[in-house]
Amino acid sequence: GMNYRHAFHAGNHTEVFKHAALTLILEHLLQKPAPFAVLDTHGGIGVYDLCSDEAMRTNERDAGVNRIFGRPLLSAPRYLKTLESLNAQSLRLYPGSPELVRQSLREKDRLNVCELHPEDGWLLKERYRKDRRVSVHQRDGYEAIGAMLPPPERRGLVFIDPPFERKDEPDQIAAALQAGNRRWATGIYAIWYPIKDAVLGDCIAAAATAAGFNSVLRTEFCPYRRDGVTLAGSGLIICNPPWRIDDRLRGLCEELAALLGGKHSSWSVELAPGR
Ligand code: SAM
Repeated sequence: GMNYRHAFHAGNHTEVFKHAALTLILEHLLQKPAPFAVLDTHGGIGVYDLCSDEAMRTNERDAGVNRIFGRPLLSAPRYLKTLESLNAQSLRLYPGSPELVRQSLREKDRLNVCELHPEDGWLLKERYRKDRRVSVHQRDGYEAIGAMLPPPERRGLVFIDPPFERKDEPDQIAAALQAGNRRWATGIYAIWYPIKDAVLGDCIAAAATAAGFNSVLRTEFCPYRRDGVTLAGSGLIICNPPWRIDDRLRGLCEELAALLGGKHSSWSVELAPGR
């Protein structure tokens, strides 16, 4: 079943890291005038109300976006700009990945976003109905990788942000990366994962290399101690990482460690071992 509801987690520390990193990839794509396309395989609803019952029940944003908003974030200005575009004074609305991408699109850039959950898919469709650059698909995002790539623009990003509620999620990711590499070997692929123990990150990094990507970057940001049980932080595997994004990510991790991290915080940015 689809029990995962993302509204409980909107704006937590893993979201801040994931979304700030996403904007760094977008900035790279915006450096050239040629149009780009983004496929967001697990879209959610686009914008989250931090005062909803779900969000208030967990208050996860306290240790996340609350500590960012209203401060300068020199390493990821585009992330902050999008936050500020939705919130004049106090923080109430939190942009998910489709909204962060949408606000970065130029006239000819495109966003395809998938969301499998019927209600959420409908909400997302409603939200972006009037934006001709955005297409919302209520379908399986992994299948979309096999069906919708490569984009006609031939440059861009596939953003994979699954709920990890199913045991076979790593297998699905591995299969999706195989299909993605077969269909579009030069695209940027970014896969997010939660960090409780080391296994998930190792597994996705290995799958990316096995799929045939020449260059695979792994970055992790943990504000808390890695105890193997609770959510210490999160990571991203980036296939075909943009030129010099490693330096941008290091700057981001340093800044986030100061804003979000405790004394046990840790982070890393490294190229995964090749084939
Ligand atoms: N990427 C979003 C963001 O940054 O705001 C958050 C995505 S949330 C972690 C995962 C979403 O994937 C949930 O909304 C869930 O309903 C949806 N989902 C689960 N399985 C899916 C699948 N196979 N294809 C597409 N969406 C799926």
